[in-house]
Amino acid sequence: MKKDSVIVVNDLRKSFGKLKAVDGISFEIKEGQVVGFIGANGAGKTTTMRMIATLEQPDSGLIKICGFDAIDDPNSVRSKIGWVPDDFGRYNNLRIFEYLDFFARAFDYRDQERINRIQEVMDFTGLTELQDRYIDKLSKGQGQRVCLGRALLHDPEVLLMDEPAAGLDPKARVELKNLIRILADEGKTIFISSHILSELSEICDTMVFLGEGKVLHYGAADELKRESKGEMIINVSILGNLNQLEEWVELNPGVRLVDLKKHGARIAVENLEPEFTVELLKRMIHDKLKVIEFSREEKTLENAFVDILNDSTQGGDDHE
Ligand code: ATP
Repeated sequence: MKKDSVIVVNDLRKSFGKLKAVDGISFEIKEGQVVGFIGANGAGKTTTMRMIATLEQPDSGLIKICGFDAIDDPNSVRSKIGWVPDDFGRYNNLRIFEYLDFFARAFDYRDQERINRIQEVMDFTGLTELQDRYIDKLSKGQGQRVCLGRALLHDPEVLLMDEPAAGLDPKARVELKNLIRILADEGKTIFISSHILSELSEICDTMVFLGEGKVLHYGAADELKRESKGEMIINVSILGNLNQLEEWVELNPGVRLVDLKKHGARIAVENLEPEFTVELLKRMIHDKLKVIEFSREEKTLENAFVDILNDSTQGGDDHE
């Protein structure tokens, strides 16, 4: 079944004085996707997210959330999104329960339904034990969970999280990652900004790379890790004479020898379709190569990001 686009951003622009913080970006996110929003400091991530969260007015462009226009109909958009900013206002003299209760009332939960909803959210975010603690006295990780809890109160379809892992210790990061995974399994659409790439690579299925206010790349996280300049590298090892493998590569279309290893070779393929990789292995076996290793090479997300940044700066002169 074809899934609907839950977040649509088209030619979005926002300047602060002469600075083009967001410079004509477009992307679509489908229902249930978990998308990482990656960019260096100052790339425009927070500005974009704040516009999607209806907290900042774009200069031009279109934002639609679940079909509602963020500029013309911000209230409908707000009912669909949960916003988790990188830091949230900490009210003095307010306990966790009271804080969540205040927002639950604002979302119009009443009586027992309100208590039940707060309890559900506190259980999910591990706050039940801490419910009487003052929120201005919480650790960064605990505060982040309160912020997530608040964002989940009205059970939004879309979660926007701006640098949710920043400042968290490793244990708190794992806990947060687990919560995000559960929310994703429940079918929520999640858009997370971060520059801690290793974290995102484990939870996001899709990545949007942003550089100086422009989208540099949008695509599946898996492809990003495997693809380099439109090619994918396959590591092949065989039993027997390596000349056989070299000859085989020469004779077969769509493959190129990158370098030889002790028992095999790194082979580049242009066709990124998984079926082509399957066919390649079948052909090798059919041609009597004694294949003992056949694997797709993966880059780290950090390297993929650096490659994309390099490509964009090399081609950058054309866009001035
Ligand atoms: P970081 O990873 O450091 O949070 P970011 O990708 O979220 O960065 P933004 O916070 O969106 O980047 O900022 C993009 C650019 O716009 C930066 O150069 C920033 O200084 C500028 N900027 C953001 N908000 C404002 C503002 N209210 N007034 C002036 N300039 C701003």
